[in-house]
Formats: sequence, structure tokens, C-alpha cells
Amino acid sequence: MNNIAVDNSNNKSSAAPRSVAVIGAGIIGVNCALELQSLGFQVTLIDKSGIGEGCSKANAGHFATEQVFPLAEVSLLWQLPKLLFNPLGPMALSPKYFPKALPWFLKFIGNMFTTKRAKNSQALRAINQHAIDYYKPLLRAAGAEHLLTTKGSLLVFESKNRNDAVKAFEHYKSAGIAVKLLDRAQTLLLEPNLSANIHYSLYFTEVAHTANPFEICQVLSQQALQIGAQQIHAAVSDINPVNDQVEISMQSSADTTSSPEVRTQVFDAVVIATGAWSKPLLAKLGYKLPIEAERGYSLDLAKNSSPQLNRPVASAERKFIITPMSHGLRLAGTVEFAGLEAPENMQRADMLFENAKHLLTELPHSCKKDSNEEKRWMGCRPSLPDSLPVIGQATKHNSIYFALGHQHLGLTLGAITGKLIGQVMSNQKTDIDISPFSIKRFN
Ligand SMILES: Cc1cc2nc3c(=O)[nH]c(=O)nc-3n(C[C@H](O)[C@H](O)[C@H](O)COP(=O)(O)OP(=O)(O)OC[C@H]3O[C@@H](n4cnc5c(N)ncnc54)[C@H](O)[C@@H]3O)c2cc1C
Repeated sequence: MNNIAVDNSNNKSSAAPRSVAVIGAGIIGVNCALELQSLGFQVTLIDKSGIGEGCSKANAGHFATEQVFPLAEVSLLWQLPKLLFNPLGPMALSPKYFPKALPWFLKFIGNMFTTKRAKNSQALRAINQHAIDYYKPLLRAAGAEHLLTTKGSLLVFESKNRNDAVKAFEHYKSAGIAVKLLDRAQTLLLEPNLSANIHYSLYFTEVAHTANPFEICQVLSQQALQIGAQQIHAAVSDINPVNDQVEISMQSSADTTSSPEVRTQVFDAVVIATGAWSKPLLAKLGYKLPIEAERGYSLDLAKNSSPQLNRPVASAERKFIITPMSHGLRLAGTVEFAGLEAPENMQRADMLFENAKHLLTELPHSCKKDSNEEKRWMGCRPSLPDSLPVIGQATKHNSIYFALGHQHLGLTLGAITGKLIGQVMSNQKTDIDISPFSIKRFN
């Protein structure tokens, strides 16, 4: 696991802080809280909505260690204008939101240059490479090893042109990813319930999935609480550095009165893990963070109304994924830029069903919209234009740390992010070089 060791002993804070507030209890915050509490810090985990209720709730459950290519790639450039006009396309940009998203898109385009892309890809490879291994001891200790299944994943091609699959295969292979190219018969041996439309697939042999990403948040946070962490259900409105400590202002989530009471609490350090909601908190502290909510959707199908799969199956052409979960199948994906506040467009979740009909045998003709509204879900991926997260100490404040911006890979990178934050905060060597993830790159 320890491939690159980087010394952080010249960090500004020399004594380990004692009390730590972790703000945000998604998969990233929960992992940070568990790691820090295990290292002997007194952790308070604060969330406005509850454990795992943000983007970590109903994602695709795919530990996607093969995804080492940043999203910014030149081929997307020609598609951008089309995004504005198709609200149901795999990638959509609300025309109303376009002016607000423009600065992010300009930075995104800036990350398409070959040298930048190669550098970002190298950083992604380094953090992704052993990410699954970091979960194993945590799930074992929590008695929840069943939440991690390592059967690989498939990327399937409907195209009859073998070159399309070969090109993708070579691309992954050149990045050092464990991958096999399969024809239709080999693909069907692994997944007999895939339809006759599938001609080729890439089989990522070292990839894993979970039958319940929300439950991973629950069990890991329970583990942190059991070893002494505390939990507060409140929205943090301000983070004020005071000498070497940090004062946090928060408002109880239960307080719905017209003039809610704001209380403050002082901690020795704070970890900000507030996902797509991070921008205003960082702005108040004087940091620029070009983060966008890359909204994605999922649709759950019950076991009795869908065929079974053994592993996640992603579609190369349709840009979505189907994962076997404890309840049945979860169809997930798509990207929508419409900001944090715009109402959900559940037609985008239903669109996933229409796509799944092309990949699976024996799906019912239509999905039932009647009673199961809760099974359609939208989550806000915290996405930065270079596809890298921000992990590490704040550059202008000794006692503030960031763990945010994990875009499409938050579940995958949760455990390693917790480990790295623990190492930085206790002045240990980090397992990988975290300099590419510094907030410095935006400031
Ligand atoms: C459709 C879809 C499918 C996906 N599939 C995968 C996948 O298969 N594999 C993968 O690795 N990733 C996947 N992702 C991405 C992954 O879900 C995210 O990267 C991850 O959930 C981000 O975790 P987080 O902890 O940073 O954010 P969140 O889970 O959003 O947590 C942030 C928390 O901060 C809290 N918060 C925010 N502001 C405040 C405040 N001021 N005060 C208090 N609390 C606050 C929120 O309530 C929230 O609970 C998917 C995402 C989507 C949308």
C-alpha cells in the first residue's frame, strides 16, 4: 500500500490537535471521522441532513479504481453546444444556469490540454490504485465485510465495430489498469442476463462494488461513535479561526423557527468535508473553490421486477451503469449542470430505465411510477474542473483541513481520503504524494 511516502513533518502545526470537528457526514466526512477518532483525536461529526444523506446516499456503489482519466477531454468540446438543447441527454446544461456555470466550464476546458490532463491522470492513478484496500480493515472491524464484493466490473459495447472496444482496451491498458477484452460469448458467460445487443466488453478484474453505499456510511459512522466520536445534527454557517483554534457557528437542524438560535463551539481543528456545498464556507475563509454540483440520478428496480447481475455493468455508448444491490438493481449516472437549488428532474432517472432496456433481457415494458417515488434519486457530485479532490491542510490556516471535491469517485476514495487526512493531521508521512490535491492550485 505504501508506494510513495511523503514527509509532512514540516507542516505548520507541530502539536497534534485534540478536538476536531468534521463538517459533513457523507462518505468522505465519515471516513475522516473514523480515522481521526481511531488516531486518538476527539471527533465531533456535524451534518445538516444526517449521516450519508447527501450525494453518498444512492450512488452506483462502484469502487471505480479503473477511472483514472479526468473528465476534461477534447472530444467533449464539440458536444458542449448540444448539451444546452437536450435536457434528457446523458449530459445536460440548463440554459438558465449556463452563465453561472460558464467560469467552471472555462476552467474545465483549460484542463483538456495534453500536459495538464496527463498530470491530473497521474494523480488520479496514484490515489485510485489501492483505494479498495483501504476499506477492507475498516469494514472488517465493523463486521461489514459483506458490503464489499470484488468481482470486477464490465464496460459493455453495443457497437459491432471491434475497433471501438479495442481502442478503449488499449487506452486503459496503457494506464496500467487490469483489464481484459471479451467478445459476446465471453461476456455472456459472466453476465447471462445481458441482451443480444452487447457485442464486446471490457472486464476490469480488480474493481469492486457494494450492495449498499448508504449502509457503508452508516456502519463506518457507527464504528466512529462506538469508539467515542460525537455527532451533531446542525448546519454550520461560519468557521472562524481564533488564535490556534477554530470557532464554529451552527444552527440545529431541528430548529425551524423564524429566528433560529445560532450556537458556537470551539475546536482545536476542523475538517471541511461538505461536498458540493463547500464553496460558501471556503469563500468566507478566503479560499477560491471552483466547485460545481454535477447532478446525477439513480433509479432502483426491485429484485422481482428485474433480471440479476453479478457485478456492475456500465454502457460505453449510453454513459450509465447498472449495479446489483441488496434491493435489486440500481441504474445510475448522467450529468446535469443546474446548480444546487434547481428542482430535481426525475425524467432523467426514468430515462435510465429506457436505456437499460437495451442492455438487459426481461425488463418490464415500463417502470412503475406509482408508489415508488422514493426510488428515484438525485445527488450532487462535488466536481472540480481538473477532476481531482482537495485533500490536505489549508494554506492560510494551521487548524483547518479540506477533504472535498471527489466528483464521480467519492465512494471509491472515501477510505484513502480518511487515511491521508489522518496522516497529515498527525504529522505522519502520507502514503501517496498529496501535493496535486492542495487547495493552492486554485488560490
Ligand atoms: C448518480 C451518482 C452515481 C455515483 N456513483 C458513484 C460510484 O459508483 N462510485 C463512486 O466512487 N462515486 C460515485 N458517485 C459520486 C459519489 O457519490 C460522491 O463523490 C460522494 O458521495 C461525495 O461524498 P462527500 O462526502 O464528499 O459528499 P456528500 O455525500 O454530499 O456529503 C456532504 C455532506 O455535507 C453536509 N453539509 C453540507 N454543507 C453543510 C453545512 N454547512 N453544515 C453541515 N453539514 C453540511 C451535507 O448534508 C452532506 O451530508 C456517484 C454520484 C452520483 C450522483
